[in-house]
Amino acid sequence: MTVSNTPGTSYDIVIVGAGSAGIATASSLLKRNGSLRIALIDPSPDHYYQPGWTMVGGGIFKPESTHRKTADLIPAGVDWIAKSVTGFAPDDNSVSLDNDASLIYGHLVVAPGLKLDWAAVEGLEETLGKNGVTSNYRYDLAPYTWQLVQGLDSGKALFTQPPMPIKCAGAPQKALYLSASQWLTSGKLSNIDIEFYNAGGALFGVAAYVPALTAYMEKYEVGINYLHNLIKVDGASKTAWFKTADAEGNEQIVESRFDMLHVCPPQCAPDLVKNSELSGDDGWLEVDPASLQHKRYPNIWGAGDVMDTTNAKTMAAARKQAPVVAQNICDAISGQAPSAVYKGYGSCPLTVEKGKIVLAEFGYGGELTPSFPGWLNEGTKPTRLAWFLKVRILPLVYWHAMLKAREWLAGP
Ligand SMILES: Cc1cc2nc3c(=O)[nH]c(=O)nc-3n(C[C@H](O)[C@H](O)[C@H](O)COP(=O)(O)OP(=O)(O)OC[C@H]3O[C@@H](n4cnc5c(N)ncnc54)[C@H](O)[C@@H]3O)c2cc1C
Repeated sequence: MTVSNTPGTSYDIVIVGAGSAGIATASSLLKRNGSLRIALIDPSPDHYYQPGWTMVGGGIFKPESTHRKTADLIPAGVDWIAKSVTGFAPDDNSVSLDNDASLIYGHLVVAPGLKLDWAAVEGLEETLGKNGVTSNYRYDLAPYTWQLVQGLDSGKALFTQPPMPIKCAGAPQKALYLSASQWLTSGKLSNIDIEFYNAGGALFGVAAYVPALTAYMEKYEVGINYLHNLIKVDGASKTAWFKTADAEGNEQIVESRFDMLHVCPPQCAPDLVKNSELSGDDGWLEVDPASLQHKRYPNIWGAGDVMDTTNAKTMAAARKQAPVVAQNICDAISGQAPSAVYKGYGSCPLTVEKGKIVLAEFGYGGELTPSFPGWLNEGTKPTRLAWFLKVRILPLVYWHAMLKAREWLAGP
């Protein structure tokens, strides 16, 4: 790994973001063509396995197990540039950095993830990590979730879900199920009133998984409030406010007290992309959903959460996207049309109780795309095998396969 900050340096490939998608794409590119000169740009010295944060909030993983130093993950031969990208100049094939330098590219991969918009909920940022307000969406807060779960003997626990799209659409519910499972085991559940406030109108976007999830909501006696969007929190008085509408469509504000509040923050495209020529109407990176090539700039590609594709924004999706982007860039470099196709695969291991998971796997249009035969893992039902996969296997797949271009079950 080299750190290079030379202004005006040019590369065959520049990748914005050394998160899950960025590093995996760099590795997959080098696997196909070891002579490519690649720069990965990311200011963060820390890299996280975010799918592990649900398990930290459930007391199953230690936080440290989800963290590595970025420097230790950059593929050999790739230059890591520890700066922020501040702008795109697609007509000049260049990106600008926060030290006023710019980099020229042959091909650009845009993979800066999405923006967690904590500030969109009034009063939330001030009270995160105290007053019973937590979120598994931040590394430093997930342990507080587990602390609150253990400490709550009775009272009211609220779990919120913002409007779609969000990364790992199941994560707000996963926090709820694992908390409820713990309260059931410890005999406290009958004293704890659980409410789920969902800005959307269904438990899950793919109907096949809804019956199993509904059964668990009933088992834990959860009150479900659809079309309720969290807009304000006051930590000191432990009160949350939600925007909803009555039967006639008139806007209403609903107030609820809480003893514990788990918030999934509103999410949107990063400002860098939203305010650039690369975004579509809704602010996300505008790409072809199959080739992941930008719709207007053929030497720009997307990977990960930043794209306007309709797949579930998950690490599992990025695992399938990285080899597709790498293959298609190599095709383009050799003068051919993109040959690899991304079919919208995404996966969400729904931790419905400690020890069991409903492993949701699906592609574009909600088509079920199970990785295992039904006799081994019946995907729409909770199984112990899927729990074993999540706890023991998937972290290893992440660190030792996905980030290193071992493309098992992921190659195009
Ligand atoms: C609580 C939680 C639970 C989840 N559970 C699951 C799960 O069970 N299964 C699953 O598959 N997925 C899950 N996910 C989703 C998964 O973690 C993400 O979809 C995945 O990490 C997306 O990868 P990415 O590379 O697009 O973004 P990220 O991994 O977030 O990386 C983005 C990178 O871009 C960098 N960056 C941002 N802006 C700039 C800039 N201007 N210049 C340079 N670099 C920049 C950032 O520093 C970061 O390193 C979960 C996520 C959370 C938060």
